[in-house]
Amino acid sequence: MNKISAEDSVIRLLEMIGEDPQREGLLETPKRFSKALQFLTKGYKQDPQELMKTFDVGNYDQIILLKDIELYSMCEHHMLPFIGRAHVGYIPGKKVIGISKIARIVDIFARRLQIQERLTDQITQCLWNGLAPVGVACVIEAHHLCMRMRGVSKQNSTMTTSSLKGIFLEDSSKGIAARREFMGLIK
Ligand SMILES: [Zn+2]
Repeated sequence: MNKISAEDSVIRLLEMIGEDPQREGLLETPKRFSKALQFLTKGYKQDPQELMKTFDVGNYDQIILLKDIELYSMCEHHMLPFIGRAHVGYIPGKKVIGISKIARIVDIFARRLQIQERLTDQITQCLWNGLAPVGVACVIEAHHLCMRMRGVSKQNSTMTTSSLKGIFLEDSSKGIAARREFMGLIK
């Protein structure tokens, strides 16, 4: 990000809303805002595939789940935060990754301008490509400040999205059982 022009743009925005960018409380705001925005969108510069250091799984063929991963992202429509939790599970093929890597993958995709639907899908797609699992599933529950603070001002509505791949999508009895187990575990 070009810092000079980013800060100039914030000064322009402050003027546009009727503020005085020269008053004391706002003097450092353009710099701080630019820095915060850079942090909140740093996922663009990170490649989640680099986290895909895998291990052999042995005989384990059941669900591996990381639940309640805190999630902070920004909607691409309003550049306002959406905040929630992600639950990510997979059934390994031959390979697994360290469980903390899953949380980092969630962060990398969350720290970009997003829509929740795409974010959910990018997380499963990344694990699908990197691990070739039997199945992978992600559910995200989040509330969107663009809805709470403006627009319809709905304070308590939560948006839920899910992305399922592999066995979790299948209509076979195994697929149905896997899906039911995952949904039960994240309740
Ligand atoms: Zn929005």
